[in-house]
Amino acid sequence: MKIVVIGGGVVGSLVARELCKYEVDVTLIDKNFDIGMGVSKANSAILHAGYDDEAGTQRAKFCVRGNELYTKLEEELEIDVKRIGSHVLAFKNEDLNTLDELYKRGIENGVPGMRILTKDEIQDMEPNINPSVIASLYAPTAGITEPWQVAIAAVENAQKNGLKLALNEEVIKIVTVDGKIKGVETDKNEYDADVVINAAGLYSDKIATMAGDVAIPLHPRRGEYVLLNKFTVHDLVNSIIFPPPSKMGKGILVLPTVDGGILLGPTSEDLPYVMKFDRSTTKPGIEKVVEGAKRLIPGIDLRETVKTFAGSRPESPNKDFWIGRSKKIKGLVHAAAMRSPGLTAAPAIAEFIPEEVQDFMEVKFEKKNDFDPKRKRIVHYFTDVSKEEYDEIIKKDPLAGKIVCVCNKVTEREVLEAIKRGATTLDGIKFRTRAMFGECQGGFCTNKLLEILSRETGKSIEELHYGTKKSYVVNGKVRP
Ligand SMILES: Cc1cc2nc3c(=O)[nH]c(=O)nc-3n(C[C@H](O)[C@H](O)[C@H](O)COP(=O)(O)OP(=O)(O)OC[C@H]3O[C@@H](n4cnc5c(N)ncnc54)[C@H](O)[C@@H]3O)c2cc1C
Repeated sequence: MKIVVIGGGVVGSLVARELCKYEVDVTLIDKNFDIGMGVSKANSAILHAGYDDEAGTQRAKFCVRGNELYTKLEEELEIDVKRIGSHVLAFKNEDLNTLDELYKRGIENGVPGMRILTKDEIQDMEPNINPSVIASLYAPTAGITEPWQVAIAAVENAQKNGLKLALNEEVIKIVTVDGKIKGVETDKNEYDADVVINAAGLYSDKIATMAGDVAIPLHPRRGEYVLLNKFTVHDLVNSIIFPPPSKMGKGILVLPTVDGGILLGPTSEDLPYVMKFDRSTTKPGIEKVVEGAKRLIPGIDLRETVKTFAGSRPESPNKDFWIGRSKKIKGLVHAAAMRSPGLTAAPAIAEFIPEEVQDFMEVKFEKKNDFDPKRKRIVHYFTDVSKEEYDEIIKKDPLAGKIVCVCNKVTEREVLEAIKRGATTLDGIKFRTRAMFGECQGGFCTNKLLEILSRETGKSIEELHYGTKKSYVVNGKVRP
C-alpha cells in the first residue's frame, strides 16, 4: 500500500514515523525547505497535562495520551523533554471555581497527580510569583520540549526505517477516481497513492478541498511572544505559569524554554482566512504580552528581551481537532485543525492513524521486523561529554573544538553534522544545533554559518536562504 503524508509538522512527521513501523510505502511531502517550519515552528512548546479540554472532544482524547507518550519519544529519539509542571493561578475567590472545574475535568480526562496548592506552597516553588496569588492548580505531568526538534528527530528516524522524504514540493492536486484516492501531484512530481494523510496544518482545509472533500474552514489565530535572555533571567520561573483561562484560550503565560530562556505570551488574535502566512509581531500585541506576563510575574525585566516572534494556530468553528477518515473520499484521512494542544496530542494521533487507515481501508498491515525506534541526537560537546573526553575528541577532530556560535558554544563539527542530516538553510542549522539561538540571535555567527553552508552545499552565499523560500540573507553579490 502506498501512503502519502502531506505536511512535515510535528503531526505529519510523527504519523509518518508511526506508519514506517509497518510494511507499507510511505512518502512525506512538505512545501518548505525543512521539517517543522509551519505552525510547529512558533508556539509555546508546552506538553499540556490535559485538564483544559472538555471530555468527549478529540483534544481531550489525544492530549493526555500524547503527553504520556513523550516519555517514550524522549528515550527513543533523544529529544529534550522537561517535566517541569504547570500552575494555573487564582487571584480572586471566583477563580477558585475555575480551578475546581479544571481539576474535575482533569480527573475525568485521566490527568495524574494534580493538586490545588495554597499560596505558601506556590511561593515556595515560585518565589517571583505575584504575591496576590491565592491558590493554584498544579499539574506535575506538564512539561516543555522543542516542537521542531520533535519533528526533525521523528523524520530522521523514519528515514532510517524506509520513509521517502520530499521537501520543497508543494502539493497542488490530489487525484481521485470514483471517489477514491489515486495519487498526489506536486509542483515538481507525481506520486501514486492509495491513502493520503492530510497533516497540512493551517492549510489542511485547502488539501481537503483539493481532494473533493467537505472542508472545515481554518482561520489563523495569531499568538505573539517575547523571549528573554537565558543567561540572565533563567531562574525567573521554574515551571509553566498560567493565568485563569478565558474563552479565548489559556491566556498569556510565563514559562521556561528547554534551553533555559524565559518565554512570555502568547496573545490570541483571530485574523482573516487570507492572513494564514502572517507571522508578524505588533506593538499592541507585544504590549498585551507584557501586561499579561507582569500580572503573573511582576518583576519581569524587559531589558532582557532577545527576540519577539509570532505563530498562528489553525482555528476551526467547532474548536476541535479534525482527526480521522473522510466521509466522502475513500483513502483520505485527516490529521487536521491542529490548534493547541496539537503538539502534546501529536504522538497519540500518530499512534491512532495507522489503526484508522487499516480499519478504513479494510486491510491488516504487517509489522516490520527490523523497525529501529532509536535516533541519536547531534552531540553538543559542551554539555554531552566530559571535559576530559572533549580534550581527547579535539585532538582527533579539531572542528569539534572550533566554536562557531559563541552564545551557545556550537562547534563547526555540529554545524557540519546538521548539514549532513538535511539542513539546507540557516534555520535548518539553527533548529538542529541551537546556533543563532543565543543572546545575540545570530549577530556574531550568521556570517560564519553562511560561509560553511555555502562551502558544503556548493551554493553561493547569495543563493542561500534564512528559512523560507523568499528569505535570501543577502541581496546582492558578496565579495569573497
Ligand atoms: C501560538 C501558538 C501556541 C501554541 N502552543 C502550544 C502548546 O504550548 N502546546 C501544544 O500542545 N500545542 C500548541 N500549539 C499548537 C501546535 O503548535 C500545533 O497544533 C502543531 O504545531 C500543529 O502541527 P501540524 O503538524 O499539524 O502543523 P504544521 O507544523 O503547520 O505542519 C503542516 C505542514 O504542512 C505543510 N503544508 C501545508 N500545505 C502544503 C502543501 N500544499 N504541500 C506540501 N506541504 C504543505 C506546511 O509547510 C507545514 O510544514 C500552539 C500553536 C500556536 C500557533
